[in-house]
Amino acid sequence: MDRRDFLKIFALTLIGSVSIACGEELQADRAASNKKRIAVIGAGLAGLAAARELHGQGYEVVVVEARDRIGGRIWTSTKWSDMPLDFGATWIHGIQGNPLTDLAEQIKAKRLTTSYDRTETYNTLGQPLSQAEEVRMEDLRKKVFGTLEKAQDEDADVSIRQVIEPLMHQFDKSSEAYRFINFILSGEIEQEYSGSAAKLSAQWYDSAKEFDGDDALFVQGFRVIPEFLAQGLNIELGQVVKEIQWHQSPVRVITQKTEFTADCVLVTLPLGVLQAGNVRFTPELPRNKQNAIAKLGMGVLNKCYLRFPKVFWPADVDWLEYVSERHGEWTEWVSFKRAANMPILLGFNAADRGREMEGWSDRQIVASAMETLRKIYGRGIPEPTDYQITRWATDPFSLGSYSYNPVGAVPKMRQELAAPLEKSVFFAGEASNQDYFGTASGAYLSGLRAAKEILAI
Ligand SMILES: Cc1cc2nc3c(=O)[nH]c(=O)nc-3n(C[C@H](O)[C@H](O)[C@H](O)COP(=O)(O)OP(=O)(O)OC[C@H]3O[C@@H](n4cnc5c(N)ncnc54)[C@H](O)[C@@H]3O)c2cc1C
Repeated sequence: MDRRDFLKIFALTLIGSVSIACGEELQADRAASNKKRIAVIGAGLAGLAAARELHGQGYEVVVVEARDRIGGRIWTSTKWSDMPLDFGATWIHGIQGNPLTDLAEQIKAKRLTTSYDRTETYNTLGQPLSQAEEVRMEDLRKKVFGTLEKAQDEDADVSIRQVIEPLMHQFDKSSEAYRFINFILSGEIEQEYSGSAAKLSAQWYDSAKEFDGDDALFVQGFRVIPEFLAQGLNIELGQVVKEIQWHQSPVRVITQKTEFTADCVLVTLPLGVLQAGNVRFTPELPRNKQNAIAKLGMGVLNKCYLRFPKVFWPADVDWLEYVSERHGEWTEWVSFKRAANMPILLGFNAADRGREMEGWSDRQIVASAMETLRKIYGRGIPEPTDYQITRWATDPFSLGSYSYNPVGAVPKMRQELAAPLEKSVFFAGEASNQDYFGTASGAYLSGLRAAKEILAI
């Protein structure tokens, strides 16, 4: 179908000329094809997976996307022409049995693996952990996760921080042990789940399943996946959806420029956007869905890539970790030396620290990162030649990085988020996937699930 035919069928009309969409011509087209017309909101992985599936089944699909690019939270920067860098998702987490591995194989996308076995951890003074410190860290790690496991047997749900507080109180705030516990909470929990330990549910923070195997990243960036899924699809970029009128046939999707009509709509808006109420549903969403949206959490993980004239850190490690004095500040770093032979470091900040730093200028962020690196590698290290920084919490079309389970949320809320409204509105997106929320795989699978629901009506 060429674009002109599509526009005719989809009745992509300027506001005020809606009647054309419902006109006789369109009715005739519909009767002829008998296939449903679907508007998919969001060209992230969930939206593209669903659109591809439905398009493949002969449905008439338009993907309505606010940004001027596809991919959503998969966004590969090509600013450094010799090294594409992912601002959003980087890794296929667990390559075994992962549907994204199958896609990557299909398109023969080159991948590299990074390993947590190649980690160097530095204490607050910037020294590699001594053997005694490693033993101490391991002991505290067991205590932290043992305490959390016990808390999962309790009826009442409290935050991870609350559960761990009695353990922390055993140590002076300036002690090494106290800092080690903060390091574990930040590096192993907040960076992974994106929520603050003070908010994450001790019962449900880790309720998602995981795929087995190594983590793999794409040599050309994660964008190869959305680019592949988007082939042959009709995608309307730069269309910010403002309202979905769903209690009528056809359903109307109103953007800042125009409106789309369809038999049904698939909403893949990020949880942060749903929470902000930036897209109005008319009529309002049912109570239980509103409740799920309000109670689930949207967390933050931000990245700061620093490019140097040369490598000054150990060349054979993938992960560099730092036991920061300030909770969660520059705790985790990835080196691109071993995997890609590039003098690039990627520093992360998550949860409250990540959110706070978004308010800083680029210059402040880079200076703060460099202060940490100088503590570890000395004052003689070179200044970065360039940097790239993300700010996902304030990105208006994401309003956060990925979802987590805070106190007050339970896993079944994700099913409530996913549940269709009659046969008119369907929902997908990472937050709607109870099993694999917070991941690219979860987003992709949610899109396939929603496509199946639509195919069944
Ligand atoms: C920093 C970071 C690191 C991550 N690392 C990993 C990782 O290594 N591995 C992993 O598996 N996952 C990772 N993730 C998570 C993964 O990126 C997401 O789970 C996944 O990409 C979400 O896909 P989605 O389709 O659900 O949502 P999105 O990709 O956000 O798609 C939703 C789309 O809706 C659009 N939209 C928003 N508002 C409107 C509107 N009003 N009108 C029209 N369109 C709108 C958005 O622009 C977006 O394109 C990471 C995420 C971030 C931010």
